[in-house]
Amino acid sequence: MNQIVTFGHPALITKSADIVIIDDYIVNLSKKMIDIMYEAPGVGLAAPQIGINKNIFVFDAGDGPFVAINPKIEKKEGEIIFMEGCLSLPGYYWDIERAEYAKMSCLNEHGEEVIYEGDELLGRVLQHEYDHLKGRLLIKAMKRKARKEALREISIKGFPGDRT
Ligand SMILES: [Zn+2]
Repeated sequence: MNQIVTFGHPALITKSADIVIIDDYIVNLSKKMIDIMYEAPGVGLAAPQIGINKNIFVFDAGDGPFVAINPKIEKKEGEIIFMEGCLSLPGYYWDIERAEYAKMSCLNEHGEEVIYEGDELLGRVLQHEYDHLKGRLLIKAMKRKARKEALREISIKGFPGDRT
């Protein structure tokens, strides 16, 4: 059931499109994404990670699951370095600097306008998943030297389970 695509897949570097109508397809997609996220397991999953370039992600930073459709970052505050991983870069964790607090407006799976906001893990997940919708992987959030090292490590070690 794990259909998560990894680094190198074009969907991960493509900007996703807004969702115009929240129909059964989108509701079912959100349910499927939540299942895949929990199975992984992970705290967030964006549609490009299963090869779908639509502006939707799901997350659970402890009291979810929640669905975010067409999200916009309204506010970011502070900065903090946090150990971060990604289901599309399995087995790797890097120190990534991001805003400490993030506030996001979006629609949920019922088409209602909602605000998600928080610091620590929640603030981190919101920014990480938002980046996926913009076609940015966490490698992009690294400083140049760290990024070079990370890419070198990946090119040597690959991902667990990779047969290439
Ligand atoms: Zn990710």
